[in-house]
Formats: sequence, structure tokens, C-alpha cells
Amino acid sequence: MRVETDAGSGGGESLYAEHKKVYPQDVQGTFRKIKWGILIACLGLYYILPFVRWDRGPNAPDQAVLIDFPGRRFYFFFIEIWPQEFYFITGLLIIAAFTLFLMNAVAGRVWCGYLCPQTVWTDLYVRIEALIEGDRRERIRLDQGPWTAMKVAQKVAKHTLWILVAWWTGGAWVLYFADAPTLVKDLATGQAPVVAYVWIGILTATTYALAGFMREQVCIYMCPWPRIQAALTDEWALNVSYRVDRGEPRGSLKSNKKLKAEGLPAGDCVDCGQCVVVCPTGTDIRLGSQLSCIQCGLCIDACNNVMDKVGSPRGLIAYDTDINIDRRKHGKEPIIKLVRVRTLIYVGLILGIAGFMSFTLLNRGFADVNVLHDRNPIFVQNSDGSVRNGYTVRLLNKRTHERTFVLSVEGLPTGIKIEAVGIAEAVGGKPLVVVGPDQTREIRVNVIVPKGVPVEKSTNVTFRITDTSIGEMGTAKDFFKAP
Ligand code: SF4
Ligand code: SF4
Repeated sequence: MRVETDAGSGGGESLYAEHKKVYPQDVQGTFRKIKWGILIACLGLYYILPFVRWDRGPNAPDQAVLIDFPGRRFYFFFIEIWPQEFYFITGLLIIAAFTLFLMNAVAGRVWCGYLCPQTVWTDLYVRIEALIEGDRRERIRLDQGPWTAMKVAQKVAKHTLWILVAWWTGGAWVLYFADAPTLVKDLATGQAPVVAYVWIGILTATTYALAGFMREQVCIYMCPWPRIQAALTDEWALNVSYRVDRGEPRGSLKSNKKLKAEGLPAGDCVDCGQCVVVCPTGTDIRLGSQLSCIQCGLCIDACNNVMDKVGSPRGLIAYDTDINIDRRKHGKEPIIKLVRVRTLIYVGLILGIAGFMSFTLLNRGFADVNVLHDRNPIFVQNSDGSVRNGYTVRLLNKRTHERTFVLSVEGLPTGIKIEAVGIAEAVGGKPLVVVGPDQTREIRVNVIVPKGVPVEKSTNVTFRITDTSIGEMGTAKDFFKAP
């Protein structure tokens, strides 16, 4: 939408820049190679991971990475997370956030330029576009030219391939939520749940729109990270920078040579515009750091190629820090400082949280118990003088075989009775509760203190479940109330 500031005259300056389609030109170089490598690794991982198997024994899914909503579990190779252990996911998200902050402190928006799904899929879409319609110039010519049979064929081929990639993206996503080989079969035969088709549809549409059409606009206008990143960065972070001190005053190769020969100031930038035409966001890095720059390094490749051709040293555009840009202006040697307080704090936090999570994960029990005391009434005095407290007890068996637990209550004087409703078997007056593999079982429990047994008005008690075969235990604290 265009908004005119001078409504009266109908002219004036627009508050909004008109959208110009970006036609990124192909480029060869180190950063392009790194980006291809990361793209192949990320997409390969994303598409293949649901088919990787991991043996967890009988009665457990063998998919290495699985978000099992019906079974209320998250599986990640040897890690199995239950709903009540959601703090592990929170911990992982915190680690991911600090890793992003660390990346930013070291090399700016390196996430955006190399790893962000928007960048990875857009790169793939641009590659498909270039394969079918040609490089930048051919694509511009094609878009500006009239509609011919060839143009229609090229556009149809491009959009078909884009939709196929988008469909496969959505298809791979749903495979993380069910047994992948079974779901693939069900999807192909039309027997998969409706929700699977809906999600594939949603993700196909969003991938097609975001990577095919919205591209750099997502990075520039929609994503919050550039704004957050700009607030978090500092003068020591490596960012893709144009070395103004070396490049300016810019001019054509011929005029710069002439100026140099005459002893007049002339920079190394030959004003060829290659750094701009290869940029996936259409940014001119020579204007300084900008929110639109995703730090992909492709302009470095483009400029290095130009420098090679004109016989000037590489690195007119390079990863550099604000400090170094300033130091160069004053004729000082550049310095790189990756180890500083900020990066050490981030590394410390990441290691600390990861260490704590690993420790908790390795030492967590495979049996657990939760107890809920009856509220109304909080206790009952029976006609024989005994006092009864009622509880809802939930036992968790996190192993993949059936287990029997002894339920005991500690903290009360000897002589108490533990009644588990519907459970007849007991050992030494303590109920024996059988819990199925990888299941929870909820039972009603009455704890009774007979008449004559002294008991406080409120006593802290511990419910303990003990596996009868391997002795593994789980405990929960509660209280016993008496008149
Ligand atoms: S300016 Fe350079 S680093 Fe920034 S987005 Fe464009 S090509 Fe990538
Ligand atoms: S590619 Fe290098 S030489 Fe060409 S315009 Fe960009 S900075 Fe200047």
C-alpha cells in the first residue's frame, strides 16, 4: 500500500518503500559452499530423521525422534520425556536461546544467514528457480517479457517443483508425530488421520508462500530476531562489513586506476554492484550495517571474485567488527576478541544448564508417585474411634515392562492400616499394586489410625512405592489430619 504524505497535492513522499522483487544472482565462493553444505545437512536431517530407528525394547516405539501425543511422551534417541518432565523441554529452549545469543556475540546474525529455516528453504527455492528460469538476468528478462508458451511452461514447472518441495516439507513434519513408515503408508492409501492431511496442507501453503514469494520480506519485516539481535549485539561481534577505509572513494576500475596514477585518492571498490546483485535481500552492504542484512556472506564471495579479477587483495567485504572498522580508520591493526566477558557468560550459562539437565536426566527415577489428599472431608472419625484420611495416589511405571510396587506410608506410628480400594493383594499389610508397562495407575487409598494409637493433629507423611523385584523407589510427601 502506498501512503502519500501530501494528500492535498496528491504528490509528496511515500511513507513506505515500494516493494522491488529481488533476483539474487548465483555466486561461487567459500561462503556459498558453506551454505550449500549446511543446506544439505539441515534438509537431509529434517527429511531422514523420522525414519531413523532406536530400539527401546518391547512395548515402546522404535522411532528415534517422536512426539507421541496419544502416549504423552517425547522420545529423542535414548531420552524419553514424560509430560510431568516438561521442564526438560523448557531447559532445551533456554539453551537454544543462549546459543543464539552466543552466536550473535561471536558472529552476528550467523543463524539467519546459514541455519534459519526461512533462509534454507528460500535458498532451495531460488536454486530451483535458477535451474528452470536461468540466472538473474534471464529471470528479469523472462518476468518483463510477454507471455509465451515457453514462459508458461517454465512458470508451471517452477511452481510445480516448489509445491512438491513444500508438500514434502509438510509431509516430513507430520512424520515426527507418528510411526513414520506406517504413516507414510496410511497417507498414501488415504487412511491417515484427517489432522495429518490438514497439517500437511497448512505447511505446504506456508512453505510455498514464505520461501516462494515472501522471502526477504520475512527477514526484514516479519521476524523479530533482527530487532532483538540489534539490541544484543556489541562492537566486538563479527559482522559482514564493507571496509570503507579501503573501498572509498569508489569508482570504475578505469577511473580509479587513473586517479591512483595521478596520486589522487581512489578506493578499491570498482562500483561493479556484484555485492548487491548476489544479495538474497537486495542489501547494499556498502551503506553500512542494516537490519536487512542476514549475514550470509555471499557478498563477500562476490567481491572476492571481483578483487581476484582486478588484481586487488581479497577482503574488501569481510566478517569484521565495528572496533576494527574504527581502528583501521586510525591506521591501527585490527584485533579479534572472541573470548570476552559476554561470550564467557553465555558459554557458562549453556554449560551450566546443560550439565544440570544431564545430571537430572541421568539420575531421574523410573518409578514415581503423586498423591492428592481428599479435601472434603479432610479426615473422617469412624464410629469405632479410628481416624481415616483419604488420598488419590497415582503410580508411574516408566519402564517398558509390567511392575509390582509395594505401597507404604511413613511418618505415622506403628499400627496404622493402609487400604487400597479394589486391591486385595498385600504384603505385611502394605498393598501390592501392579502397573502396566510405561503406564500410570490411579488408586484410592485410605490411611487409618486405629483408636488408642496416638497421633498429632497434623502429621507429615511420606508415600513410598517400591518395586518388588529391583527395589526401585518413588516417594511423595503429604500429611495426615486428625481431630
Ligand atoms: S549484504 Fe551480504 S551478507 Fe548481508 S544479506 Fe546481503 S549478501 Fe548476505
Ligand atoms: S563487489 Fe566489491 S568492488 Fe564490486 S561494488 Fe561491491 S564492494 Fe565494490
